[in-house]
Amino acid sequence: MDRLRIQKTRLGEWVAKLQESAAVYAPMERAGMRCFARLAEGAEPQLGYGNTDLPMKDVLFPQTECLVTWQRTPDGLQVTEVDTSEPTVILGARPCDVTGLNFLDRAFTLGGIEDPYYVRRRDKTTVIALVCPHPVPGCFGPSVGVNETSPEGADVVLTDVGNAYVVEVKNEKGQAAVGLGGEAFATASEEDLIAAREAGDTLLAELAEQAIAMDEPEARAKAFLDSPQWQQVWGRCLSCGICAFLCPTCHCFDICDQSCRGGGERIRCYDTCSSKIYTKQAGGHNARPTPKERLTQRIMHKFSYAPERLGLIGCVGCARCRRCPVDIDLQMELGAVAVE
Ligand code: SF4
Ligand code: SF4
Repeated sequence: MDRLRIQKTRLGEWVAKLQESAAVYAPMERAGMRCFARLAEGAEPQLGYGNTDLPMKDVLFPQTECLVTWQRTPDGLQVTEVDTSEPTVILGARPCDVTGLNFLDRAFTLGGIEDPYYVRRRDKTTVIALVCPHPVPGCFGPSVGVNETSPEGADVVLTDVGNAYVVEVKNEKGQAAVGLGGEAFATASEEDLIAAREAGDTLLAELAEQAIAMDEPEARAKAFLDSPQWQQVWGRCLSCGICAFLCPTCHCFDICDQSCRGGGERIRCYDTCSSKIYTKQAGGHNARPTPKERLTQRIMHKFSYAPERLGLIGCVGCARCRRCPVDIDLQMELGAVAVE
């Protein structure tokens, strides 16, 4: 497909057209946090952010959601499945988060068993990715296989070339979204294409300076778990779960029922294998009683079990987990370990 261009001054026109038929989510600031939020009519997406504090997964896999409600009636129990999916556009997703979505697509359909809540939303969502003009400090996407200039999982990819974006349409979903923009789009010129290529080359060169050794991830994970540094790491983990909640690929959840006056609802919310009670059983036994077992699970899941089961490493290099309150940086540890 030919590459297109859209002047930055006409982006709002396109967004308004998209909003006529879909909820548009884009980077916004909310309560001091940068996250993907639903754009109000006329609001401008804040695409200048390096990356959002919270990952984009929340749009398709909310932190908390109601799955089912029930109500006692004279005729018996009335159970209603909740479906809040709607046509959605995610605008300005960075390549790491888009790759995270690709991971979630596989995780939520593993073995042919679909998570209907995720899949319904995903099917109705168009992803418009934005290539980072410069790397976020600490980002190491290419080290874990992220395609930084045309990520898998995106339907449209925008590359900033100054006063315009060069637009790559990757599939029919993307074509439909771009089609709504009508005359806001034009065919990209030769200069546009050169500028987009140079922007990509510059980005990759800058990212190369932040690379981490992530070849042989499983061997690295095992070598680290056998290394003297390991005790130093698990020994200070607080089991707070921040690393999982900020991670674009982590997708564990808990489900609980809340009853009230003859009715109730079934809620699911994020959970994490770092939590002390994650594996606690009714009889009191806990298979992972200390941070040692819990962090072992986190490391092995990301770097061994996920590649084996999903064909993808469970890390997209966004560096958000570096906000760990006790400065645990698992990827740096794995990158530094000697692999035999
Ligand atoms: S493990 Fe850390 S760096 Fe990797 S994707 Fe998750 S939050 Fe980002
Ligand atoms: S953010 Fe740090 S302290 Fe908290 S669970 Fe993760 S590794 Fe442990």
